[in-house]
Amino acid sequence: MADLDPEEFRRLGYAVVDWIARYRAGVGELPVRGDVEPGSVRDQLPGSLPEQPGTLDALLADIDRVVVPATTHWQSPAFFGYFPANASLHSLLGDMLSGGLGIQGMLWSTSPAATEVEQVLMDGLADALGLDPAFTFAGGGGGSIQDSASSGALVTLLAALHRSDPRWRTDGVDGTERVYVTVETHSSLAKAVRVAGLGARALRIVPPMPGSPAMSPDALAAMLAADRAAGLRPVLVCPTVGTTGTGAVDPVRAVAAAAQDVWVHVDAAWAGVAALCPEHRDLLDGVELVDSFCTNAHKWLQTAFDASLLWVRDARTLPDALSITPEYLRNAASESGAVVDYRDWQVPLGRRFRALKLWTVINGYGLEGLRAHIRRHVALATELAGWVRDDPGFTLAVPRSLALVCLRVVTGDGPEADDAATREVMERVNASGEALLTHTVVDGRYVMRVAIGSATTEAAHVAALWERLRREATAVRG
Ligand SMILES: *Cc1c(COP(=O)(O)O)cnc(C)c1O
Repeated sequence: MADLDPEEFRRLGYAVVDWIARYRAGVGELPVRGDVEPGSVRDQLPGSLPEQPGTLDALLADIDRVVVPATTHWQSPAFFGYFPANASLHSLLGDMLSGGLGIQGMLWSTSPAATEVEQVLMDGLADALGLDPAFTFAGGGGGSIQDSASSGALVTLLAALHRSDPRWRTDGVDGTERVYVTVETHSSLAKAVRVAGLGARALRIVPPMPGSPAMSPDALAAMLAADRAAGLRPVLVCPTVGTTGTGAVDPVRAVAAAAQDVWVHVDAAWAGVAALCPEHRDLLDGVELVDSFCTNAHKWLQTAFDASLLWVRDARTLPDALSITPEYLRNAASESGAVVDYRDWQVPLGRRFRALKLWTVINGYGLEGLRAHIRRHVALATELAGWVRDDPGFTLAVPRSLALVCLRVVTGDGPEADDAATREVMERVNASGEALLTHTVVDGRYVMRVAIGSATTEAAHVAALWERLRREATAVRG
């Protein structure tokens, strides 16, 4: 029994596809959040692993019985938490093809198509997003599909460390490195700083511009000058286009000007894909001046996790920082310099053929279909924000950003009462199972986030959410 007989695989594969199709057809009817206690899943599973093979039917029955009720249904049309993580059925087909080929794409020579398809898609997407041609391979830069924006931030930081002082490769960090972010920057930057061994002291929080959450370029310039004068070494500046909490956008052009020769990495993990639509191109204003840019296909671009798109302006920077070549990886193609070896663009050696799922997505929707997907959500969020604005029982905590609406309940009894009511309304909505929201804190105030972005979310789902929010707020206000 070396493996499944391909004919048997065909039969079982159809059964799995049937299961997925049935799950997706009915996911809108399930409570969005599984209602389970810690340990309850473990308690339902056998304490020891089977010595003898079982049937796929029995496994699928266990998944129905144990897994589905304890799952948060991220593909539900009523999922409005965090940022929705699109896992379109198109992308699942590509994932299956990728697993079916079962290649390792670490070097060009270990599977040339895996590298070149990825290069072509990343060049094409750079163009479709309106990125500067310098980010394409033809322009001397290039893109790669990372597992996550977090990994993208880490390898970018390593490239920035190397560019700042190549002795980094032999001597490591020296404690003078500094990285510039804002309070709203995603925690993955702080994690990258920790993983790279810089220590939390390396993280400098740039203050915002007055009356806005966005990074102040003037404050950045002052901090850079002061740090340099103190003998410290600015290594990386990370403006965000669409922060996770509120969707705030840092002024990339002015930040890049203030940063001068310091590496600038733009984190647009959620919002960046909206630049496919010409009316949202302004999001990328100034990105032509930076060193690297990241956006996730696995949030709002119909692609199942993992597919984070990272472009660098100089294709040599990541290999310069990361390449290590033991004898067993030596090959003529790499030595010719004519190929890209993506292992040098990431931490792990091995890599999946992620480009296939991106390809099935782009093929399945066309760029027009992807634009329509984004526009539909932005329109729904615009409508919701209008309802919030017009209802004295609610207020927008910050202006709507694309398809993210941040709101608070208004009780008339002051900020503390509003915060408590907002939290309670959100918890009641989530407990109902009819929708899922998450929260953030802005200027010390509790805020509900409604992130519209599930592929199947329609106007009716947003209207139902709004009705429930109003009903729960009335109940909470008493
Ligand atoms: C979601 C998010 C990330 C992290 O994304 P991963 O791909 O899960 O690492 C980073 N930055 C921003 C702005 C995000 O919204």
